Amino acid sequence: MPASTRGEVHHLRAVGAPRRKATSLDCPSCGSSHVAQVLGDNGGVSYVCTACGHIWS
Ligand SMILES: [Zn+2]
Repeated sequence: MPASTRGEVHHLRAVGAPRRKATSLDCPSCGSSHVAQVLGDNGGVSYVCTACGHIWS
């Protein structure tokens, strides 16, 4: 059991720890904050609510 591995893992976890931000992206349909950003056909950005499936841009 290499002790160094634990240190590296801990380091990676510290750097890559997801920091949940308060975004302004809320689903206009259901109000959920579970919103994913997707690329549209025109190269634009659309948003899809993973809670209710509503898509808007
Ligand atoms: Zn929704």
